[in-house]
Amino acid sequence: MTRAFNFSAGPAALPEPVLERARDEMLEWGAERASVMEISHRSKSFIALAETAEADVRELMGISADYAVLFLQGGATQHFAQVPLNLASAGQAADYLVTGAWGQKAVSEAAPYVNARVAASTEAGSFTDVPANGSWAVDPAAAYLHYTPNETIHGVEFHQIPDSAEVPLVADFSSTILSRPIDVSRFGVIYAGAQKNIGPSGLVLVIVRRDLLARAGQPKAKVLSYAAQAKEGSMLNTPPTLSWYLAGLVFQWLKAEGGLAAIGERNRIKAETLYAAIDGSGGFYRSPVAPAARSWMNVPFTLKDEALDAAFLKESEAAGLLALKGHRAVGGMRASLYNAMPLTGVQALVDFMADFAGRRG
Ligand SMILES: *Cc1c(COP(=O)(O)O)cnc(C)c1O
Repeated sequence: MTRAFNFSAGPAALPEPVLERARDEMLEWGAERASVMEISHRSKSFIALAETAEADVRELMGISADYAVLFLQGGATQHFAQVPLNLASAGQAADYLVTGAWGQKAVSEAAPYVNARVAASTEAGSFTDVPANGSWAVDPAAAYLHYTPNETIHGVEFHQIPDSAEVPLVADFSSTILSRPIDVSRFGVIYAGAQKNIGPSGLVLVIVRRDLLARAGQPKAKVLSYAAQAKEGSMLNTPPTLSWYLAGLVFQWLKAEGGLAAIGERNRIKAETLYAAIDGSGGFYRSPVAPAARSWMNVPFTLKDEALDAAFLKESEAAGLLALKGHRAVGGMRASLYNAMPLTGVQALVDFMADFAGRRG
């Protein structure tokens, strides 16, 4: 058996050079004579690893000293609640743009802590588009405006940063972080679960503008406080050291690949290749998403006849193309094209799709 092209939405494929290096270092990391996950997070060598990982992600994303960079836990889901706990005072309102299932969940998990208001939603159109910039009103008294730059399930991506007027913009970047350059200075908080584009699960990258750390927020355990975590270098308690190490290797791999400008160009070409195959299939395949809001990272598509889905999945897996089954909320197929998916994988997919359509069309 050989390693297949893995289109999983998450946990997702990791770059092969990262896995190979981790394999080579598994029993003895550096001069430790033990693996990285068997040593203290307070050791000199682990602290150096943590500092290098932070410096590398700062360099990759162009994160200024005005921001703290935290390596936390709990998944993006826990931060749906941690964001209002840290940024909103009791009874305050926060505005949300809802463009898919994750934005909906962000609202429902925030609701115990903040008056979460939906400033705009595309639910009436089955989450196949993003609202036009300026089509919502942000309350100047809101604690923040929250949105989901890329909806992993619905395959809808904002290709422009939404306007948040004077309130801080908070974004769940879980499935599109590091996929292309972004202007971090436009954001108050960026957070992302690791298991799509950063590394294995167990880690959440949180980038917080330092002035927001001064907000009192609401009563909360210290471990949930962004300010306390920033003060303690994200080591208030034992961090997920193996995930942190692997994230650091992914950052180094991204730098060696030419950084986010180069990766972004590659991701644009990958996405264009797949959407061209869908749109050029004479209706055999169909993307439900409005062309201007199509995700570069997660591409849902349907077959002209649902009865062909099972055969498509069985044959694609046999051809070495894994995890193409769509999310149950959308149906059909979904191909996730995160950074670790090479263009050759996308080409193998579109070749398979053309062959399948030719035989079943
Ligand atoms: C995967 C994902 C989440 C959930 O992440 P967990 O780590 O499972 O909490 C949240 N938001 C988006 C956009 C995601 O893609």
